[in-house]
Amino acid sequence: MEQKMQDPVFKAAFLEQEMAIDQQMERTQAAPCATPLIIPIAVHYNTPITDANPQCLINKALEQVAQLNLDYSFCNANVGDLCDFAEACPQYFDVPIEDLMPEDGACIQFCLGDQNLPTGEDNIGGYAITVGDYVWTGQNTDTQNNWDGFLNIFVNSLLGDGDVLGVAPFNGGANPSGNGVYIVSGAFGGSGGPCGSGASLDNLGPYTIGATATHEIGHYFGLSHTFSDNLADTPPQTVFNIGCPSYNTTTCSTSAGSDFSGNFMDYVNDACMSNFSASQVTRMQLVAANQNVWAIDKISCFADWFDGTNTYMSCQSFCEPVACPTEASTGYFSTDQTCAGTTYTLPTDYAAGGLVLDEDLSATYTWSIGGYLPTGTALSSTYTPDPIVGCGTEKLLLFLNVGCTGDADLQINGGALSFTIYPDPTQFTIDDLVTFVDGDCQGPTWEVTPECASFVTVNQINGPTFPVTSGSGTADYEIILSYPADCCTDMICDFTTTVNYECDTSGNNCEADNGDW
Ligand SMILES: [Zn+2]
Repeated sequence: MEQKMQDPVFKAAFLEQEMAIDQQMERTQAAPCATPLIIPIAVHYNTPITDANPQCLINKALEQVAQLNLDYSFCNANVGDLCDFAEACPQYFDVPIEDLMPEDGACIQFCLGDQNLPTGEDNIGGYAITVGDYVWTGQNTDTQNNWDGFLNIFVNSLLGDGDVLGVAPFNGGANPSGNGVYIVSGAFGGSGGPCGSGASLDNLGPYTIGATATHEIGHYFGLSHTFSDNLADTPPQTVFNIGCPSYNTTTCSTSAGSDFSGNFMDYVNDACMSNFSASQVTRMQLVAANQNVWAIDKISCFADWFDGTNTYMSCQSFCEPVACPTEASTGYFSTDQTCAGTTYTLPTDYAAGGLVLDEDLSATYTWSIGGYLPTGTALSSTYTPDPIVGCGTEKLLLFLNVGCTGDADLQINGGALSFTIYPDPTQFTIDDLVTFVDGDCQGPTWEVTPECASFVTVNQINGPTFPVTSGSGTADYEIILSYPADCCTDMICDFTTTVNYECDTSGNNCEADNGDW
């Protein structure tokens, strides 16, 4: 590329093309993804790679295509990194956060060729995979034009002794006439681990998740590096990043070393690359040749792409705008009750308590005791009340604090939960709750301990109907604590006891005791 730019004819044509694309970009929004651009892929392995292990060659090609689809659909594992950074540092970006990534990804999908393949090629396993037939030269080496309409990926290890992971012709995707990109064998594949077929594939340090091909195909579709493009929504870098830099989300500084570095067009490790920006997507869509030029009669897969486990359709954007609440229009007011000794799960449905915020998209919630934060004490998601001595109940107020994911300092007093705590039922014996007295022929009488009266009920469940006329025996009584259902699920709130009675009508005792007789 650098050498070509010294050719004045090439340079003039190149700059003219660039200007045309820039002008188009100003007028164009990213294409909606109802009909993604589908790109047929052919993989050409070359020496020292051999066909000794065809399954390895097939697996790596399929994995690489799968990873391309994840990356270009914004469904890869790291895609949320940009959103995390943008939420922490919205001032860092020139565009609203919700516009950072298009909803449907890049709207480009890839498919390994497997239909109507050119004859005379030793296609491995029925796929558009060749071994030892094509050498990457940077130019179209296919004199038969067998691989026109494919994005050809050339893989060998000849360039792998230095630090070149891949090479791509800039804007090559505008004219897919047998051209393509080069990927060093150690960085080719997906997340399935290394394998060998004459040489090792997918085994090169931190470059084994397929992002090298994602990056090179970015160039192929007209993207520059983030440190040399003029796009408003890529990081304003002056130099490249390597390794896996951490971003400075505390100061949101744009100084060197704290840029967001997860764009596919930077140089970081595969696992630390996460996204293309919206204007990168627009540019790729403009540069790529239209669907008619791509050889889709050579593929059998479609827009909905299945990797054996998941079907990938259009992925939704992971970026949500940060919108912090500033006030609670209506507070949270609720009551509840539990038993001491029981673990109580704090409410999470704040709307049920009436809470209305002026903006709730990025709201976070914390419960505290003793007051609102920061003077109160923060609670985790559960609360276990302290023991209570005796039959008394306790009242407690829990406080609901509202914060925001995008503003660590935000604190709104959201409301309160009035809480009644009953004594732990396992601490009681029957004698604590009720006292029985033999009432002879009238049956036993009882008295509930006065301070327990509000939640204790006594029912006879066995024995004779009183009054009786003679004899003696027993009667069974159930003592029920009218407690919150939650605290009785694991604890005994229902006691039973047996009480004796005696009715002697042979002498005067009974009449003396019970005038009715
Ligand atoms: Zn590059």
